[in-house]
Amino acid sequence: MAQKKHTIIEQIAEKLGIIPNLHGETEPALPRLTEPGDLTSFPPPDKWDDWAEYDPKAHPRKVKRHYSIVPTTCFNCESACGLTAYVDKETGEVRKFEGNPYHPASRGRNCAKGPATINQITDPDRILYPLKRVGARGAGQWERVSWEEALNDIAARIGKAISEGRNNEVAYHVGRPGHEGYMDRVLQAWNVDGHNSHTNICSSGARFGYNLWYGYDRPSPDHANAKFILLISAHLESGHYFNPHAQRIIEGKMKGAKLAVMDPRLSNTASMSDYWMPTYPGSEAAVLLAMVKVILDEGLYNREYMENWVNWEEYLKKVHPGAPMTFESFIEKLREEYKEYTPEFAEKESGAKAAMVVDVARQIGQAGTRFASHNWRSAASGNLGGWAVSRALHFLQVITGSVGTVGGTSPNTWNKFKPKFFDTPPAQKFWNELHFPNEYPLAFFEMSFLLPHFLKEGRGKLDVYFTRVFNPVWTYPDGFSWIEALSDERKVGLHVALTPTWNETAFFADYVLPMGLASERHDLNSYETHGATWIAFRQPVLREVARRAGKPVEFTYEANPGEVWEEDEFWIELSWRMDPDGSLGIRDHFKSPYRPGEKVNIDEYYQFIFENVPGLPDVARKEGLTELDYMRKYGAYEVEPYSYNKHLKAVPEAQLNGSVVDPETGVINKDGANVGVMVQGKAYVGFPTPSRKNEFYSQTMVDWKWPEYAVPTYIRSHIHPDSLNKDAGEYCLVPTFRLPTLIHSRSGNAKWLTEISNRNPIWMHPEDANRFGFKTGDLVRMNTDIGYFIDKVWVTEGMKPGVVACSHHLGRWRRQQDAGNRWATNTVNVQNDGKGGWKMSTVSGIRPFASDDPDSKRIFWSDGGVHQNITHAVHPDPISGMHCWHQRVRIERPQPGDEYGDIFVDTNKSFEIYREWLKMTRPAPGPDGLRRPLWFARALRPDKSTFYL
Ligand code: SF4
Repeated sequence: MAQKKHTIIEQIAEKLGIIPNLHGETEPALPRLTEPGDLTSFPPPDKWDDWAEYDPKAHPRKVKRHYSIVPTTCFNCESACGLTAYVDKETGEVRKFEGNPYHPASRGRNCAKGPATINQITDPDRILYPLKRVGARGAGQWERVSWEEALNDIAARIGKAISEGRNNEVAYHVGRPGHEGYMDRVLQAWNVDGHNSHTNICSSGARFGYNLWYGYDRPSPDHANAKFILLISAHLESGHYFNPHAQRIIEGKMKGAKLAVMDPRLSNTASMSDYWMPTYPGSEAAVLLAMVKVILDEGLYNREYMENWVNWEEYLKKVHPGAPMTFESFIEKLREEYKEYTPEFAEKESGAKAAMVVDVARQIGQAGTRFASHNWRSAASGNLGGWAVSRALHFLQVITGSVGTVGGTSPNTWNKFKPKFFDTPPAQKFWNELHFPNEYPLAFFEMSFLLPHFLKEGRGKLDVYFTRVFNPVWTYPDGFSWIEALSDERKVGLHVALTPTWNETAFFADYVLPMGLASERHDLNSYETHGATWIAFRQPVLREVARRAGKPVEFTYEANPGEVWEEDEFWIELSWRMDPDGSLGIRDHFKSPYRPGEKVNIDEYYQFIFENVPGLPDVARKEGLTELDYMRKYGAYEVEPYSYNKHLKAVPEAQLNGSVVDPETGVINKDGANVGVMVQGKAYVGFPTPSRKNEFYSQTMVDWKWPEYAVPTYIRSHIHPDSLNKDAGEYCLVPTFRLPTLIHSRSGNAKWLTEISNRNPIWMHPEDANRFGFKTGDLVRMNTDIGYFIDKVWVTEGMKPGVVACSHHLGRWRRQQDAGNRWATNTVNVQNDGKGGWKMSTVSGIRPFASDDPDSKRIFWSDGGVHQNITHAVHPDPISGMHCWHQRVRIERPQPGDEYGDIFVDTNKSFEIYREWLKMTRPAPGPDGLRRPLWFARALRPDKSTFYL
């Protein structure tokens, strides 16, 4: 079958509206308020080797200091904004961090956490050398060891496990990766199914809802070009990609876009919105479906898009077999399907006014293809069935035809670069049920927060367990169950913590290996921040300064403070040692592409990637640079300035030759794999779903035993008002919101940030506070399903009545025998009764301390907040696998003896609750004995043969 060309006549006819426009705006003229490199007050790059500035500390004298300016990227959240490090030529130390104007996403701007990188690299409590535990695990005693000793010991242990076929006993558990594909390559070279991630406490819910629709699991909104923006979160002030998004949301608003925000808190985001909808947590899908109904009833939908790019024929055939197979009949059935979702029903469920629901729906309908929306964690991560929220939200994108358009919302991968590696190992031949158990065949992705319970049930054990910039004891729910698992050497043989700073999980490690911060490591970054595609290069800046000075180093730790290293080189060295004679075949995947037979080095690794970035070789050549040197110089490159409508890409001729078209669905199949779909007589790649279209109707949900969710619907949350006993003082606690100045457990080593934010009181509306007689500052006992925590109340009208909230950022702790993060940690006592009862009490709050940094004696704050997550039971959604964060809490006044910061948890109770939620699952196998639908993505995808039970 041959692909028909898109002729000039067709193009003109499309523009005039004579035929439907199936090609969209692929290269629109879209002026941006700031182009990369526009910010002219930044030092020009030709002066980055020697930039002179007056020393502010010498003021009023004018003393010039000379700097090497080296670009890198921020390591404090997932955005990877551009930074430039100012390295003092005299002292050889980094003096400060500014933005990088050449970074296409951040465009020279940063949030408070970017420049605070300087605090982190100069933190007097940082770990500078590899450490090995002395005495019992968790006892807090450490000795310094060499990298050589640590590498040899760990490599021998993994090598032994692999040669004995115990590949599933090796696991790597990552917080936020911050690199593109590096570890997938390493783990597959080892042939282990050992990737475990934090996704299930973060975005699994949202991912699942999106994935069902179009085979992509994340959104990439084009805020800057939108006419209407809907956020199911506080995303303008915090959240995923928030600095790049925030500047583009404001850019959109400056061009006239309207903003609506669903959030039970009057967040800074809500305060910037045109429509604040303080929806009851978990009711968001009901509101979104009511908006769908308004758009349908008022004929504001995009007929052309829906007719061509939704699998409506399949819906009619399967659900309404007698109905006429026409688009009009589909719309009629759709209106019937959602007739219950009236604006009044939405108001009843959510508290958002019906009139506002109608108004916002109309504005979305009128914005049409320029409607952008975003949901990442928030509602989709808080609720049982939270995935239904992103599914309903994407419904609005589909119905307005704003999927992948200018000013609409694209799939994430359309705006994300996938690097080509010098070597790609085969997929691993193992399926690890500790990460992907049969009970959760549809989960996105690993059931990582259940690991302690799986180990407790004896489902397996871990011989070598890496935690990489990852702190589950503190960040995850049910942290005491993690302490129990990590303390038991029969469950976890060797725990290696790779981390730039001490954390509550590293206290229970065998090795603590210091990894670099933003300016001390190599990583490749590319994220879906806007309607373009870019890459950025995180690089160790002192290493780069040494290279510029003609004094190159072999390993990054030679240039970094102490012996702080980076993961990239660590994994190469470890892998090489795991296979000393090459018999495991691991070494083959770490050989240089330029020097046959020799071990690859980090420069070669990145040179190969950059040589294969489309367009970069030409741009670099124009400056007389290699691709690697170009990235060292500018730190970023825009691969595609406009990335839209990629479903309209023609199926390549080579794939069409010998392909077969399904006469009923138009799906094009080549050699057993679907490669595209026929639409209006043309072959398009479409979307990676079974129908190659947006799937309003999901046969997958039917096949995998969830027929009640075949089409988008609203699922009542576990914290729905009907499930709470209000008379007994039960409330929904929203424990997920972020502060713009902190980032999970990464910012406890930044003095400026903890100075700004150091408490996490319970947000409570005056009506609720009056009920208990609370005033601001009073102690409150928050009873969860497995224990309680004692916090303070903040009475505010900025909270929806009937709901309470607590930021999860604060409450960092260390025991008296532990080190680290003294800017941010309370000193605590932890007692265990040996029968599952754990009690934590605060010995002292944050105190000034003596160090090389005079600021450490000037600490004036003393309240480090309260660790709430450790009192939460695990709530695994039976479908998406998401931990449903919102908690049913029973609020009461403190009991005699209760002190601020007190925590109690019974881990027997948390195990019981895990088992209760487990009962809700409908385990694999699915059709054909599958563990998981083949078309679903899977982190570190193993060999196809492993998908069958
Ligand atoms: S948003 Fe802030 S913390 Fe995140 S990468 Fe950008 S500067 Fe760093």
